[in-house]
Amino acid sequence: MTSLPFTDLPLPQAMLDNLSAIGYHEMTPIQQQSLPLLLENRDLIARAKTGSGKTAAFGIGLLLKLEPTSFSPQALVLCPTRELATQVANELRRLARFQANIKIITLSGGISIGPQIGSLEHGAHVIVGTPGRIRDHLSKGTLKLDRIQTLVLDEADRMLDMGFRDEIKQIAQTTPSSRQTLLFSATYPDGIQSLSGEFQRDPQMISLEETE
Ligand code: ADP
Ligand code: MG
Repeated sequence: MTSLPFTDLPLPQAMLDNLSAIGYHEMTPIQQQSLPLLLENRDLIARAKTGSGKTAAFGIGLLLKLEPTSFSPQALVLCPTRELATQVANELRRLARFQANIKIITLSGGISIGPQIGSLEHGAHVIVGTPGRIRDHLSKGTLKLDRIQTLVLDEADRMLDMGFRDEIKQIAQTTPSSRQTLLFSATYPDGIQSLSGEFQRDPQMISLEETE
């Protein structure tokens, strides 16, 4: 596949300038295939190997939909582990530099919940976290997801392996059914299809070969 520059997409100039500032000029194959659909607000199942740039694919899409003046969570990214949630949040913060005042909070297990509650009180645009801890915040009433526009299940195959299916379901049920739901994965086991069937609407499937 010929690689295309980000400037081929209908992205705001500030987003293009920031991508270029962080050294992203050409889209990776998964970005090239998923971004046009993401920007049309389609639900997607996207499978591509680790290291192929999946975070920026869903990140650019969800960041462009944010309403910066509203400090209630508008995008939620679920990740299998604390380390991955931290990595995703850091990448989203880099991508979000095109716009001032975007707040991204990480809510993962294995660290104390008190400071997380404190930072949620100040509001946030994007939440990145692990399913167990997000569910804990929902049951405590310290997190509300009724303004979510984009739900991302990142590394969905690993979340299924780790037995997060029920948590994902409980979390998704508290988000608006009008949301865009994006499922990103490195592999495509059977469970992914039924996960998609439960949470997605007319999803487009993008599956790249190992070599891409
Ligand atoms: P994945 O989620 O598919 O495993 P990541 O989103 O973690 O992949 O991205 C892998 C690496 O590629 C990261 O270091 C990221 O900064 C880099 N990257 C992503 N998109 C681009 C791009 N368009 N140009 C250059 N580097 C990129
Ligand atoms: Mg990833």
